[in-house]
Amino acid sequence: MPDYKTPLRDIRFVRDELLGYAAHYQSLPGCTEATSDVVSAILEEGAKFCENVIAPLNRIGDLEGCTWSADGVTTPTGFKEAYRQYVEGGWPSLAHETEYGGQGLPESLAMTVNEMLATASWAWSMYPGLSHGAMSTLHAHGTPEQKAAYLSKLVSGQWTGTMCLTEAHCGSDLGLLRTKAVPQADGSYRIEGTKIFISAGEHDMAENIVHIVLARLPDAPAGTKGISLFIVPKFLPGTDDGLGERNAVNCGSLEHKMGIHGNATCVLNFDGATGFLIGPPNKGLNCMFTFMNVARLGTAMQGLAHAELAFQGAIRYARERLQMRSLSGPKAPDKPADPIIVHPDVRRMLLTMKAFAEGNRALFYYAAKLVDVVQHSQDEAQCEQADSLLAFITPIAKAFMTETGFEAANHGVQVFGGHGYIAEHGMEQNVRDSRISCLYEGTTGIQSLDLLGRKVLMSQGELLKGFTKVVHKFCQANESDAVLKEFIEPLARLNKEWGESTMKIGMAAMQDREEVGAAAVDYLMYSGYICLAYFWADMARVAAGKLAAGTAEEGFYKAKLQTARFYYQRILPRTRAHLEAMLSGADSLMDMAEADFSLGY
Ligand SMILES: Cc1cc2nc3c(=O)[nH]c(=O)nc-3n(C[C@H](O)[C@H](O)[C@H](O)COP(=O)(O)OP(=O)(O)OC[C@H]3O[C@@H](n4cnc5c(N)ncnc54)[C@H](O)[C@@H]3O)c2cc1C
Repeated sequence: MPDYKTPLRDIRFVRDELLGYAAHYQSLPGCTEATSDVVSAILEEGAKFCENVIAPLNRIGDLEGCTWSADGVTTPTGFKEAYRQYVEGGWPSLAHETEYGGQGLPESLAMTVNEMLATASWAWSMYPGLSHGAMSTLHAHGTPEQKAAYLSKLVSGQWTGTMCLTEAHCGSDLGLLRTKAVPQADGSYRIEGTKIFISAGEHDMAENIVHIVLARLPDAPAGTKGISLFIVPKFLPGTDDGLGERNAVNCGSLEHKMGIHGNATCVLNFDGATGFLIGPPNKGLNCMFTFMNVARLGTAMQGLAHAELAFQGAIRYARERLQMRSLSGPKAPDKPADPIIVHPDVRRMLLTMKAFAEGNRALFYYAAKLVDVVQHSQDEAQCEQADSLLAFITPIAKAFMTETGFEAANHGVQVFGGHGYIAEHGMEQNVRDSRISCLYEGTTGIQSLDLLGRKVLMSQGELLKGFTKVVHKFCQANESDAVLKEFIEPLARLNKEWGESTMKIGMAAMQDREEVGAAAVDYLMYSGYICLAYFWADMARVAAGKLAAGTAEEGFYKAKLQTARFYYQRILPRTRAHLEAMLSGADSLMDMAEADFSLGY
């Protein structure tokens, strides 16, 4: 596995120079304690922890995997100890309310630390990562008693959380779920059913696991309108703040899977387990959206993590590996061959990884800033605007960042040649680990339907307009800048085309709803490439400004400008193919009769 080195310089560039985080924190009530000194200290300590404690576990987790026996699930060597250090260091509580023992720092700061944890070892980081969504759900929908019973233990990291949605017959379509919740005389519920694919569903890292479970009440309407949400702890909360009785929820087996071996993916049997309703009956899916939005951004980050790790491994290798000579003559004449970094095709792959890692970091931290505003702003209009932008950007972040993260992981293997396919270097693990990110938390197909159908068309284009306005203002403000012309002109053209092509799909969809499904994935990827074009243009603006003013870090800012140029010339043209495909209509997909798909066999 490539050694993880935290890209602190780039993290600071995006946070401070691009997105103005220092002023952002000082403008939001409840965030002012995040001064530059505090932020700096946290990022530096976080980087050390991730590099020294978490990163070494990534390969071990892959090789050992988790084991399951009658006693429960054992995580790979070192996972438990690292979790103990993580809790002792106060990392789980960074962005939680002081009322529950949290440190009350902004969510975006925790999201930055989470990026480091995720890149160091995604499989390890999933254990604390899932607690986060459980806490958000409890915060938003729990009763005061429920919050008192569970939140401080989750905030401290003493307990972890899960999300239990999936059943064998019910994945994307939650309306099909069958797990039952029968009311009991004492106000609790008896939960019966089997959930599958539950990440961190059982493990040895924390003393208790709080499952957030979707189930149906006996009289519930069919479909998604009859789903309720429950807390089902592994151990019921006891008296005196301790653990109570063991609940009837047990791991039935562990899934054998392609990657993320260090994370336990469990079949969970609820055999009459005691559960407690959260939120109103039959409104579970609405409540769960709190959880799912957090989790979606968390999974978006997984894409960034794999792109970063692939890049770090590949860049080191490309400088060392000697193969053939540069087309324009030897670049290392004293050596038997040139390092492969001299070859244009290797550079194409390295720059693709770099453009995705750094571009997606900008997109992710932009979303994180919106999360802060939604959570802290007292200004209703500002809050609403941030909420709309976040609703629009979340499916793009989830699907685009994971698809491009997977692509980057693949390039990582390719740069290593056959050695990338061999386990020793960890590049093949990075591909295997990254593949799941396009599937869970809503597949790319489901995110795309959410973006085009629910967010864009159902809002009559308003949510899209919210973002294209941001891009439009940026283009206007920089239109006379000669250095930025190569970015601003194509960006302004694409931004306009985005609205026009959406209208075309909307018109077609009025005649035939299949047009939405037929266009959705191309539409999402097209949108993702334009979003990244905006962030790359903005990064180019900052870099060009620094270079013009004179800087000791000329190399860093020049590389930003050059990566922006690479992105515009070599990646952004992909929008042409997506545009053509998404406007080509549904017929080429829907004309073939189902039976005819397999006539050649
Ligand atoms: C390692 C791992 C960890 C997981 N962790 C968790 C967890 O912690 N908690 C949890 O609840 N679940 C978890 N899951 C489950 C995961 O969220 C689901 O696998 C995912 O939502 C997809 O559901 P499915 O596998 O049933 O696929 P399906 O829903 O059967 O989908 C199959 C294919 O059909 C497509 N499809 C389905 N419906 C449509 C449609 N309307 N339009 C277009 N395409 C469609 C999908 O995009 C996909 O390509 C995990 C899964 C794995 C593998």
